[in-house]
Amino acid sequence: MPQFLKTKEKASIPIGQTDPAISSTVSRVIDDIRAAGDAAVRSYSEKFDKWSPASFKLSATDIENIMKQVPPQIIADIVEVQKNVRTFAEAQKQSLGEFELEIQPGVFLGQRNNPVASVGAYIPGGRYPLLASAHMTILTAKVAGVPNVIGCTPPIAGQIPHATVAAMHLAGADSIYILGGVQAIAAMALGTPSIPKVDFIAGPGNAFVAEAKRQFFGAVGIDLFAGPTEVLIVADDAADPFTVATDLLSQAEHGPDTPAVLITTSEELGRRVIAFVQSLLVDMPTAALAGVSWRDFGEVVVVDTLDEAYKLADVYASEHVQILTREPREALEKMKNYGALFLGEGTCVSYGDKVIGTNHVLPTRGAARYTGGLWVGKFLRTVTYQEVRSPSASGQLGRLCGRAARAENFEGHARSGDLRAHHYLGDQHEW
Ligand code: NAD
Repeated sequence: MPQFLKTKEKASIPIGQTDPAISSTVSRVIDDIRAAGDAAVRSYSEKFDKWSPASFKLSATDIENIMKQVPPQIIADIVEVQKNVRTFAEAQKQSLGEFELEIQPGVFLGQRNNPVASVGAYIPGGRYPLLASAHMTILTAKVAGVPNVIGCTPPIAGQIPHATVAAMHLAGADSIYILGGVQAIAAMALGTPSIPKVDFIAGPGNAFVAEAKRQFFGAVGIDLFAGPTEVLIVADDAADPFTVATDLLSQAEHGPDTPAVLITTSEELGRRVIAFVQSLLVDMPTAALAGVSWRDFGEVVVVDTLDEAYKLADVYASEHVQILTREPREALEKMKNYGALFLGEGTCVSYGDKVIGTNHVLPTRGAARYTGGLWVGKFLRTVTYQEVRSPSASGQLGRLCGRAARAENFEGHARSGDLRAHHYLGDQHEW
């Protein structure tokens, strides 16, 4: 039986449900933007972000000037990280099959991966300039072959986030807008005279952004439910408690609603981690967020065996799962529900978030039970085609189709088959 050394104080909202207050705010903003377009976009940007520039879109000259103001080391680091993200995304693209199969003599079936025509990439930035999200969304869409990628990111404290703009530009954004929250998602989903409508929206965000994407699902394509971030660590008695505590807090600082969970086979480790978390929070610069997340959503659970730990971790289906055990790779076989897995002490969730090259836009609140994270394939439509070059094969298929369609009372379908059976095999029909 799992023993909780620390329980959470607040219940998490299950996937598919939204805080009613957030849901109704988002619906109102969307309705107003649908009715009033740019004027409503501007008024909500003023209200939520105190941001009303002459144009939300950056011109080529604006971008050039911003690029000159970003320190060279930051530019160099963006380029290095984007190289990792690009290399991994290109490998993903190569792993995707386009093929043509001769399923029987003269009958050809094929599969193609066609990129969507336009993507709106949301780069969050309410609290932190999340420039890494630019690599993850814009660059990945570009590797997939999307011809038109527009990027939206909010101002931070009334200022354009220069480093984020640099990351968006270097990732290959075709146009960049300084606009955040629901107003950005709604503008990209609906289209306004100044912001083009896109076919697909990708990117993480806070609860308002995630809810806006949920409400637009169907009207446009949506990557996944990538809301407030989560971390879960599986550790045995060989793990270093200071490392575990540091890594739990590294995610808890994202916002006040970040579940940080430790599942361990060692009660002693669990107790030491709790003590280290408390002492680290004393002077952590982001303790105001990390401390609230830890108090409200932090959990430490002791189980008897690692097998139990993996099973319980699969129930949480956390966005990030870090394995700090003697044999970390066994989690690859034992676990199935996670957004991304971090194996052993040499890696950490921060590497995945910022630099290593795997995508950091990942499923949250249990969505890992049915989807993986953002990747090249999300921007592609896997479509099929068929061609029957053999007349006799078409005639045989026509006979089969006639019978199969009539078993479903589809006379019109049946006649299309009958026609080929008549043309190619000489069958006679009464209709
Ligand atoms: P954000 O860009 O998502 O949200 C900022 C916007 O929220 C603002 O522009 C504002 O318009 C809007 N907003 C704020 N308060 C509002 C209110 N009361 N009503 C309506 N709109 C309001 O930036 P953020 O807030 O810093 O959040 C980023 C989020 O992204 C975090 O929760 C982080 O955990 C998450 N994240 C998730 C992943 C993932 O893959 N799951 C990856 C990275 C980041």
